[in-house]
Amino acid sequence: MKFEPVIGLEIHVELLTKTKIFCGCSNTFGSEPNSQTCPVCLGLPGSRPLLNKQAVEFAIKASLALNCEIAEYTTFDRKNYFYADLPKGYQISQYFYPTGTNGYVDINVNGDSKRVRIHQLHLEEDTGKLLHSGSILDSPYSRVDFNRAGVPLIEIVTEPDIRSAEEARVFLQKLRTILLYTEVSDCKMEEGSMRCDANISIRPEGSKVLGSKTELKNMNSFKAVQKGIEYEIKRQTKVLEAGSEVVPETRHWNEGKGTTTAMRSKFKAANYRCFPDPNVFPIENNSDWIENIKNHMPELPDEKKARFVADHNLPQYDAEVLTSSSELAEFYDRTVSLYPNPKFVSNWVMGELIGLLNAKKEDISACKITPSSLARLFQLIDDQTISGKIAKTVFQDMFDTGKDPETIVKEKNLVQITDTGEIEVIVDQVIEANPGSVADFKGGKKKALGFLVGQIMKATKGQANPQVVNKLLAEKLK
Ligand code: ADP
Ligand code: ZN
Ligand code: MG
Repeated sequence: MKFEPVIGLEIHVELLTKTKIFCGCSNTFGSEPNSQTCPVCLGLPGSRPLLNKQAVEFAIKASLALNCEIAEYTTFDRKNYFYADLPKGYQISQYFYPTGTNGYVDINVNGDSKRVRIHQLHLEEDTGKLLHSGSILDSPYSRVDFNRAGVPLIEIVTEPDIRSAEEARVFLQKLRTILLYTEVSDCKMEEGSMRCDANISIRPEGSKVLGSKTELKNMNSFKAVQKGIEYEIKRQTKVLEAGSEVVPETRHWNEGKGTTTAMRSKFKAANYRCFPDPNVFPIENNSDWIENIKNHMPELPDEKKARFVADHNLPQYDAEVLTSSSELAEFYDRTVSLYPNPKFVSNWVMGELIGLLNAKKEDISACKITPSSLARLFQLIDDQTISGKIAKTVFQDMFDTGKDPETIVKEKNLVQITDTGEIEVIVDQVIEANPGSVADFKGGKKKALGFLVGQIMKATKGQANPQVVNKLLAEKLK
């Protein structure tokens, strides 16, 4: 029997508000533990939450970007459970009326497009963080940092529409790109500002019934999400093939071992005893307000991609790569506005620039090359100051040092030799030094010409104008 994987994701994303969701404590990452706390986020008696409007606005913005319907009315509810990092003994969350529902994200996997539906997007507060140091044996305690308690989160829940580990990774990357465009979060998986839980089950191919699922936690990179899900699909397949049943449970992805292990079983649905928090007013999402947020939405990746294809006549693939981050897209857009040769610019950005950025593990935002300096480099090629080949050397230097292309060309004396007389001398020398190749060429071996050109370019350190070299050589060999 063949099995089909079924996957639904739950993604928590911390919002980039200045302060926490229900108090004025700072919402910055990496401060001294417990330095950003107050009676409200510590859950002390007598304190009361006051809702941060910016957090609601960000949740609406994210919902719109994910094509959700926006609730006209929402409440904040108490989700009760006990855990050491949850000071009040309950978490405030939009349980009954989430901000966004019925959305979708379109993804592209190996050339096929597919729609993943978003079940809902709701707003809630983050918990504190437990720090376990050393092993249980040598350090039998954990410490708690409440700086994160009360940080605004959105939780995005997908429908079980994903069918492979790769689709899950691609979806997550696309989701991150969209959210980064909206600027509601920095979505740093390594810092925990974007966290993903994966629900996984498998079922006989063709079946319409959902199988028993496990929930995979602790994946803090795209690679981990893909690897963890792949492992879990294999594990569940073996269980079913052996005639057993998948135990519904929460499992932990162990990055080092590359395996998942059971954390807790989920036989009984947890009873969170949810009810509206009497201390937080329900909110009516005024339609003028939503309309205003809509009018201030940035151009999103899919729209930008369509525009790049339509206006710049770019292939889908180029447009997809160039819009994979808003900074990259802006870099491209600005370069093209200064040097209106879209496909040429795309080739350089996708080939040279992304190549160097990846090799140095650098981000475009830290890149020393500016759209203006890149456009000027291209102009140096056009006015024949340098050849296309030398331009790549100059580019590398610009990338490393941030210097202007003109300065580099001058300093390193890279100006192209276009003087026919000067080149002719070298052409003559090379012809004289390589009688064998000349004879080969005259005897019909086309390849010999390439060798001779190579020798001339070598003798001029790549600075001879290739058109002039080819023309002269052709004339002399006639
Ligand atoms: P739970 O009650 O266990 O939290 P939900 O129905 O709320 O489950 O769904 C949580 C997430 O799990 C959603 O993303 C949903 O798409 C996904 N999901 C639900 N059932 C399955 C299943 N059988 N296999 C895979 N994913 C599932
Ligand atoms: Zn506080
Ligand atoms: Mg659920």
